[in-house]
Amino acid sequence: MRFVFECVECGGHYLPPEDMVYPDGPASPVWCTACQSAKRAAGLREDPLLARVALAAARAALARRAAEAAEQPARSDVRPSRPPRSRRARSGPGVLRGRLG
Ligand SMILES: [Zn+2]
Repeated sequence: MRFVFECVECGGHYLPPEDMVYPDGPASPVWCTACQSAKRAAGLREDPLLARVALAAARAALARRAAEAAEQPARSDVRPSRPPRSRRARSGPGVLRGRLG
């Protein structure tokens, strides 16, 4: 599971690698790659408290998304919805059948 972080500098959302390490160094939980390298170039380091808060927020968001995903089937039958698109409509006629047969 990967965390989605919101950059405190530019407000953009970014998705660092699962182990929080980029090929060129550790990922920051507070800055996106662009802002992180700008900060590093300016000689600034992330606030450790801010980093902890950002990690906790990302963890909470991940848990919330997982809970929402688990709720999805129950919610779908109260919502008036169009019938789901058929497999054929998505993959084109005969594509899957040809591969299986
Ligand atoms: Zn940024």
